[in-house]
Amino acid sequence: MAQQEEVFKKLIAHCKEYGFVFPSSEIYDGLAAVYDYGQNGVELKNNIKRYWWDAMTMLNDNVVGIDAAIFMHPTTWKASGHVDAFNDPLIDNRDSKKRYRADVLIEELLAKFDDKIEKEVEKAAKRFGETFDEALFRQTNPRVVENREKRDALHARFTKALNDSNLDELKQIIVDYEVVCPISGTKNWTDVRQFNLMFATEIGSTADGAMKIYLRPETAQGIFVNFLNVQKTGRMKIPFGIAQIGKAFRNEIVARQFIFRMREFEQMEMQFFVRPGEEMKWFEYWKQFRLRWHKALGLGDHKYRFHDHDKLAHYANAATDIEFEMPFGFKEVEGIHSRTDFDLGSHEKYSGKNIKYFDPELNESYVPYVIETSIGVDRTFLSIMAAAYDEQTLEGGDSRVVLHLPAVLAPVKVAVLPLVKKDGLPEKAREVMNLLKFDFKAVYDEKDSIGKRYRRQDAVGTPFCVTIDHETLENETVTIRHRDSMQQERVKISELYGIIENEVSLKSLLKKL
Ligand code: ATP
Repeated sequence: MAQQEEVFKKLIAHCKEYGFVFPSSEIYDGLAAVYDYGQNGVELKNNIKRYWWDAMTMLNDNVVGIDAAIFMHPTTWKASGHVDAFNDPLIDNRDSKKRYRADVLIEELLAKFDDKIEKEVEKAAKRFGETFDEALFRQTNPRVVENREKRDALHARFTKALNDSNLDELKQIIVDYEVVCPISGTKNWTDVRQFNLMFATEIGSTADGAMKIYLRPETAQGIFVNFLNVQKTGRMKIPFGIAQIGKAFRNEIVARQFIFRMREFEQMEMQFFVRPGEEMKWFEYWKQFRLRWHKALGLGDHKYRFHDHDKLAHYANAATDIEFEMPFGFKEVEGIHSRTDFDLGSHEKYSGKNIKYFDPELNESYVPYVIETSIGVDRTFLSIMAAAYDEQTLEGGDSRVVLHLPAVLAPVKVAVLPLVKKDGLPEKAREVMNLLKFDFKAVYDEKDSIGKRYRRQDAVGTPFCVTIDHETLENETVTIRHRDSMQQERVKISELYGIIENEVSLKSLLKKL
């Protein structure tokens, strides 16, 4: 784990050094859990969004997009349940004055039991070698069985406390399991309290009668309130979906782990409206579609898993997360929820408007049920960077840091490099740039030795480097270097487009879905 943490620290430093992610307002020492994306970060982020948007709205001809405002009428958040129920259970340590999420402290306890079990299994696997029967060992080893029983007992108690919203019981678990504050090392805890995560502000001047409004904590509600607008103007027939990408804001208390948990972040959400009773079929459909979307990136299928929710939100009748193996363990990147007719039904009640859909095939009106897919842009960004980051020792003792980014998402697709800064090579390189720049994000670099320039491109994940040398002037050929293999080949300038396009095309990625 310590080694993983070390790698994670290096990744954060790398993100800053190479213009991917900066702390927000850094000259004023930053703002906790708020980040800015730099020149390379914004390109990667835009490419992730483009991949999601096209996969959702182009491959599914019954999914259309919208872009709703961040500010919404405050009753929206009453109807959605966020004013009353968008809370985290918090607990303070009186000695360190640090605040924690009670549920997260207990989840960490659960993870400790899991760790113990895995360590036993690892140890035994080493000891027994090829003859090791892992399944049997898990079932029969007394230490594994004991830890699993303890874990299951804690899990059952925790789930019940969450479902009953029993804050006293959450505190009691923390007391009974003797959880200590990592800062002060003491068990001097306050009671657990609920804390609302929405940011509030005011719209209009006080003289006009200012109205308290919220920064949206999710993009979904902008879709719900526009359900009929889109359905009617787009003449959409159920089942159909509405997709949206946009900022969301949450006053996260335990804001750690870099861009994993931010106070301002971006979501890509889709609400899919279906006939009541058909939601489970569509829930399954979208689960599989979304998992394929992730796996198609080629970061490693084993890095993903589904995690069904222990506690269903007030609106859901089924929910699962797609988790990714981050440097700090498997964590949620996307949530897939069957939200029933809760949101539309509630908006109907609060607005007094009829939000029903007339189904011509059934000849009846109903409030549709909803399957939601909700993925964080920033967490996807982090998962891709974490999987891509690699420190390599090369032959001859040299080393390099390389980002094995999926080529289609890489911020820069091709770097054009004149071998030397004279003899007409820069001019020729500019010509090649001008040829490529209409199709690909290309950069030109003539500074430092060619080796250093290759390293700079490796560090930002550029899949191709094209080098212009004296031979280029004679026969219109260049060398093209591949990032991962570092292989170089001599090709005609006229072949460059085809070679690059073949690897960076979004179309090929979309075809895998
Ligand atoms: P968590 O349990 O980690 O707080 P959540 O279950 O509250 O997440 P959802 O409300 O389901 O998250 O939001 C959908 C997606 O939005 C998440 O899967 C995640 O990718 C992203 N997301 C949510 N909160 C944050 C945040 N504070 N920072 C970055 N991304 C976030």
